[in-house]
Amino acid sequence: MSEYRLPLREILFVLDELIGVDTVSGLTNLPQITKDELNTLFETAGKFASEIFAPLNRTGDISGATLKNGIVRTPAGFSEAYNAYCEVGWNRCSANAKYGGQGLPQLINSALSEIWNSTNLSLSLCNTLTQSAINLIYHHGSDEQRSTYLPNLISGQWTGAMAMTEPQAGSDVGAITCLAAPEKYCYRLKGQKNYISWGEHDLSQNIIYLILARTPEAPAGTKGLSLFIVPKFIPDKKGNPGCRNDIECIALEKKLGIHASPTCVMNFGSNEGALGWLVGKPHNGLTTMFTMMNTARLAIGHEALGIAERAYQQAKSYAQIRYQGKDDNNKPLKIVEYPDVKRMLLSIKARLEAMRALCYETALSVDLSINHPEEKIKTLHSNRVALLTPIVKAWCSDGAVEITSTNIQIHGGTGYIEDTGAAQLYRDARITPIYEGTNGIQALDLVKRKLMINDGFDMYSLIEEMRQFDGVLSMSSERTICAIRGRFAESGAALSRTTSFILNALKSEKKTAEAAATPYLKLAGIVIGGYFMARAAMIAEQNLSNGSGDNDFYRSKLATSLFYAENILPESSSLSLAATSGAEAIRYMETDYF
Ligand SMILES: Cc1cc2nc3c(=O)[nH]c(=O)nc-3n(C[C@H](O)[C@H](O)[C@H](O)COP(=O)(O)OP(=O)(O)OC[C@H]3O[C@@H](n4cnc5c(N)ncnc54)[C@H](O)[C@@H]3O)c2cc1C
Repeated sequence: MSEYRLPLREILFVLDELIGVDTVSGLTNLPQITKDELNTLFETAGKFASEIFAPLNRTGDISGATLKNGIVRTPAGFSEAYNAYCEVGWNRCSANAKYGGQGLPQLINSALSEIWNSTNLSLSLCNTLTQSAINLIYHHGSDEQRSTYLPNLISGQWTGAMAMTEPQAGSDVGAITCLAAPEKYCYRLKGQKNYISWGEHDLSQNIIYLILARTPEAPAGTKGLSLFIVPKFIPDKKGNPGCRNDIECIALEKKLGIHASPTCVMNFGSNEGALGWLVGKPHNGLTTMFTMMNTARLAIGHEALGIAERAYQQAKSYAQIRYQGKDDNNKPLKIVEYPDVKRMLLSIKARLEAMRALCYETALSVDLSINHPEEKIKTLHSNRVALLTPIVKAWCSDGAVEITSTNIQIHGGTGYIEDTGAAQLYRDARITPIYEGTNGIQALDLVKRKLMINDGFDMYSLIEEMRQFDGVLSMSSERTICAIRGRFAESGAALSRTTSFILNALKSEKKTAEAAATPYLKLAGIVIGGYFMARAAMIAEQNLSNGSGDNDFYRSKLATSLFYAENILPESSSLSLAATSGAEAIRYMETDYF
């Protein structure tokens, strides 16, 4: 696989010029960060990721995690890489300083996580789950649970795992049967959990499972689920890993990608029962678990972004070194010179940049929702995070699959051969639309929950913000900006129209709204992505006309934004049509016609 190169200019463009990292720098609980410090931070992260994470990506894919006598071993070098990662403190950048974290903004952590995911998705996933567990315990754990678990999870000595899925309970979490019987001070859990990422491994001293289970008297369905902390080794009085809990990994799944990430079938309580401690209130487990799931869903967007960036790097490197055919003067041509290959590269670059902006801007909203001094602004951003979470997860993960597939196409036959690593990126990316709630479930979450809150107010205010930006675009008479503006206005109108259609359908024809959910989510992703691309174009145009330097970078930004407007935004018309056509075909099609 080609070497990883830190996309520092791109990362800093989004952080500094497009979003404005200053917005969070120095807010309540957040440190002041200078531009020089940011530069150094990312350069150091890039160097670490290139030297330590990246070389293990392919070897980890080939050897995979293994299970022998209940012990899971990660591929050679993973344990050393994980230790080095924690020693530097990369794992705890955004964690709360009170428990040993560095308290950096989520916005910066997002950009860092892109780097880890670009270089080694399998290994990064372990820390993603730990960060999600930390967030859950921080928000819902008792004081004792926080002081027992947070410092060890934040230091990386212990890792976290999310245990929801059971063979009969995937998307339908209400079908979970894992049983939690109450004892005097705790519960005893019995049940099997499937597909548990990093459910067993050799990287840390202890593994902390957050498990959804059902107490004996609990009502059926999601309202009967409670959430438990179940440690692999039960912490002793000093907080060190003590007795082994009744937990075992009975199998590792053989799977399409992320081979180095152990996907475990876990038995909880095969003997006396696994000891677990309730988090939050009984029967409120799913709501509590949503804190972990939402953190993880945003993190999947960053996984997708990281892997898409890596695929872009590979695609552009290959297109610059592969010669095919000759020009009119008999000069050999690099494939990058062919319009169709340029088109493929631009389609990757444009989607990737829109994904990056969406991921980082959502992370900024996370920071503002927690740290802004004004309650009104906090609420606005908290609602925006809720609205954007399914879009970040689903639109970016679909994008990663498309981008890694286009990377293979740019490579031609060699892309299909494992040695180039293009195939691995595609295989690894393929999980992102599936786990943490499939993209179909994300679309339903967007339509049936997020849109419904405040009767579409959050989406309409975002659309209004875009409409106001149209006013900014209208001030430019530059040809490219005018072209972008036209497409941007059309697609914004399509999103507004389709939002009204769905809100109406939700009141009368729920099935119609459900059938429209996936095209609607894609439409929202494309149009919101277009908003960031239009903003980027405007910044580029201003810099070019001010003559502030870096002309190639800004010209490339302008070309990429124009490509997005002309080639990607038009999809909004067909998606809007698909979403608003109703569900007649789906209704007519009897299930046994298939
Ligand atoms: C590599 C890997 C790692 C994983 N890691 C974890 C983990 O760490 N912890 C954990 O708990 N789980 C984990 N999972 C499980 C993962 O979250 C589930 O696979 C996923 O939620 C889908 O559940 P399912 O596989 O049962 O599919 P199903 O729920 O059977 O879905 C099959 C299809 O039906 C659709 N569908 C289902 N219900 C509906 C509905 N109501 N409306 C519309 N469409 C619907 C789905 O969108 C999908 O297309 C992992 C899975 C894999 C493959």
